Amino acid sequence: MSKKVHVFNAGPCLLPQVAIDNAIAALKDFSGTGVSVLSISHRTKEWDAVMDECRALWRELLNIPDTHEVVFLAGGASLQFLYVAMNYLEKKAAYLDTGVWAHKALVEAQGLGEAYAIACSQDKNYSYIPKGFEIPSDLDYLHITTNNTIYGTEIKEDMDCPCPLIADMSSDIMSRPVDVSKYDLIYGGAQKNVGPAGVVFAIIRKESLGRVSRHLPTMLDYRTHIDKLSMFNTPPVFNIFVMNETLKWIKSVGGVAAIQKVNRQKAELLYSEIDRNSLFVGTAAVEDRSLMNVCFVMAPGYEALQDEFMAFAKERGMVGIKGHRSVGGFRASLYNACSVEDVQALVDCMQEFEKLKK
Ligand SMILES: *Cc1c(COP(=O)(O)O)cnc(C)c1O
Repeated sequence: MSKKVHVFNAGPCLLPQVAIDNAIAALKDFSGTGVSVLSISHRTKEWDAVMDECRALWRELLNIPDTHEVVFLAGGASLQFLYVAMNYLEKKAAYLDTGVWAHKALVEAQGLGEAYAIACSQDKNYSYIPKGFEIPSDLDYLHITTNNTIYGTEIKEDMDCPCPLIADMSSDIMSRPVDVSKYDLIYGGAQKNVGPAGVVFAIIRKESLGRVSRHLPTMLDYRTHIDKLSMFNTPPVFNIFVMNETLKWIKSVGGVAAIQKVNRQKAELLYSEIDRNSLFVGTAAVEDRSLMNVCFVMAPGYEALQDEFMAFAKERGMVGIKGHRSVGGFRASLYNACSVEDVQALVDCMQEFEKLKK
């Protein structure tokens, strides 16, 4: 029996136990072949079946329309920053600068052409989502980061956009239903909510491609991967296997709408404790609070207790609640596989600590 812990890591994330158990079994024997999933050829019918199932689950769980294709790539979400600009930037693109990742995406595009921040929340350390900005309709695209993993802010609804819309959904994909038809491209690293690190998903409106005049290197052209069903080169086999198992789990618990309900419940539980507990305060603007990454610090006057609470929580099995260095304090990531019980354990811990100190 391993030690009882509650994992709130920001990424790589907690994965459902059944996905891990099935991965362990497949490490020994993949799909009754007698061969480990680490050693199987990706050119076999057993592997094709996993790829097909994984694609089908993406389509089913996110209700992806026929206009869009889903592909699996490598290089992390960070390489997608370049893919986006390569495949879509011709004249001018706008970026909503809501955090470090959003900003990095913008900088990458600026290396290839004209890209600018349409609005930015850096003035308050990215603690809110800018609103009310005008979006020109003649842009190649507007790029948004729907969930700002480091700062705990989230764009929780699919926005209407007069130009093509592209979203980095690394850290809130599959946490809520998404109207895919509103986006030309949705991408992200799997390791925040749908799998292990090392695989990336991209959901692409097929007709949005092929509009740029630059030469696209084969591997950086989304069309290559659509045409070759994500197997132009060797795919990250094991990572896709675990992602598929994670998606099967999402389906088994009722799909993305059911997951969203639990996610709301978990976030509500923790945010209401933060708001109630006199030792802690939240750092994100209330209306923009992320359901995935909950950021909080010690309340004014109690800053000196930070390390003590960290140790207190660790003692009680809390893992991964240290805030990102650019925000400080604490961050609890409540991704899909994190349970209400895990969140309750953290809340209990905060309440106990308050009693001890007051
Ligand atoms: C983690 C993260 C990234 C970077 O992902 P890598 O796979 O490490 O490149 C990009 N965007 C967001 C929103 C993230 O949370």
